[in-house]
Amino acid sequence: MTPSHSVYRSWQLLLVLVLSSLAVSSRAQALIETAETVPATNQWLQPGDRLQVRLKGRPGQRVTFLRGLPMTELPPAQTKGQRGIYQGTYVVRPGDTLQNRPILFQVMRNDTVALASAFSRSKVRFLSPDAPQLALTKGQLAYLNHGLGEDRLGGAKLGYLDSAVVLHVTGMVGAQYRVRLAENQVAWVPQDVVRLLPPGGFVPTSLTGSWSVAGDSLYDYVQVPLEARLPYRSQLLTNPTRLVVDIFGATSNTNWITQRDGLRELGNVYYEQPQPDIFRLVLPLRHAQAWGYSIDYRGTTLRIRVKRPPARLSLKGLTIGLDAGHGGTNVGAASAKGSQEKVLTLAIAQKLRQELEKAGARVLMTRETDVTVENGSRVLLMRQLNPDLLLSIHVNSSGSATVQGTSTYYRYVAYRPLALAIYNEVRKTGLKGFGNVGSFNFNLNGATEYPNALIETAFVSNPEDEKRLTDPAFQQQLAERIKDGVEEFLKSTRAKGPRGWLLREPAAN
Ligand SMILES: [Zn+2]
Repeated sequence: MTPSHSVYRSWQLLLVLVLSSLAVSSRAQALIETAETVPATNQWLQPGDRLQVRLKGRPGQRVTFLRGLPMTELPPAQTKGQRGIYQGTYVVRPGDTLQNRPILFQVMRNDTVALASAFSRSKVRFLSPDAPQLALTKGQLAYLNHGLGEDRLGGAKLGYLDSAVVLHVTGMVGAQYRVRLAENQVAWVPQDVVRLLPPGGFVPTSLTGSWSVAGDSLYDYVQVPLEARLPYRSQLLTNPTRLVVDIFGATSNTNWITQRDGLRELGNVYYEQPQPDIFRLVLPLRHAQAWGYSIDYRGTTLRIRVKRPPARLSLKGLTIGLDAGHGGTNVGAASAKGSQEKVLTLAIAQKLRQELEKAGARVLMTRETDVTVENGSRVLLMRQLNPDLLLSIHVNSSGSATVQGTSTYYRYVAYRPLALAIYNEVRKTGLKGFGNVGSFNFNLNGATEYPNALIETAFVSNPEDEKRLTDPAFQQQLAERIKDGVEEFLKSTRAKGPRGWLLREPAAN
């Protein structure tokens, strides 16, 4: 037992005693207005992490936190003139223990006598690196976030993960766990998509086996045998078109790559080991336009399934996923006049469906009536239906009535051409251009399995746009232009053809 352990034991005992005799005395209310961690949320910290605290009280006091650590009163210049604001920082050290406890704050008369004490509302746990905390992903829509950011679309996603992937949890802030992916690489995972494992597990690592690369009648596959279901991230890149997959915690023991027959989309695949615990697969694709991919585990073998271009790059015979945004209890945007997004998206989608079917496409819709369908269910439905591409129809809204125009959105740069082609065609209706927007963090743009685009047709919050959106003749125009956009995308994809850097031309298509 290290000395700091015993300090903590006695401190924890004190904490329990004070807790049981009520946290804040009447005197404390005068001396301590507020006392909280920053951020003011439950946290798990590990050695090297900072615990930050802030207290608002009377100026000129001697204020401590945790186990008598001094807090500093900020000069009024740093607090917009407010006095009595104290802050403190503690860097967690090896051997520190704290088990989901509130933080004790004290205003001291002298070294030993406290005038007032209070506790943070949030609770803090110090994790011991000697007892690694592991978690397993669960469900079909587990994902990692880049950071703790939040907006109406949720945090910026790093990517989806299969279920039962083992994650090394090194911290927690609020409702997200921090996950260590590799040396100097972390991500965040929402608590509701993982379950914590009991102590005693090893931090997962693996040597990679020899991969197999092969195609069947429908897809090309890369399979990498591992010893555990490790986390991964993927990036679909352009110029040249390639899929890059990083497996975290994996180290190469791949001494050969078996390339079997039947490959139609994968080029000359290879790997890199950019750092000791990141194994990177580089998978060149044969066509300039990528048509999607999925990653999952079969046992502990990572499987990457790469889609080939549709047999014919024309609407005839193409399968198109079509999503009418919102529906049922989810009204979406609404205008002062009472126009509802869910009604407009369905009307436009139904007209678009007719146009696409007239051109010979097969259309699969996420909803055909006014029903509530969660976005997660839409993602899963489309993953299962596996269309050649997906269009999601929405109606935009702004706090400012003057904002107007049409816009399209994509998440991955490889799918930009689809969104751009639709944008250019829809603008021919006379709608103003609001933009073609990339890196868009919308669930239905998050699918990697097929090219996809979100179409925010126009602003229901703008009177001019609203008049058009609610006019069935204009809805018909929109549908025709969106269909033209898809045709333009297919035409330009045909024109690009296969890439020139191939050793041999792909068979068939
Ligand atoms: Zn919407």
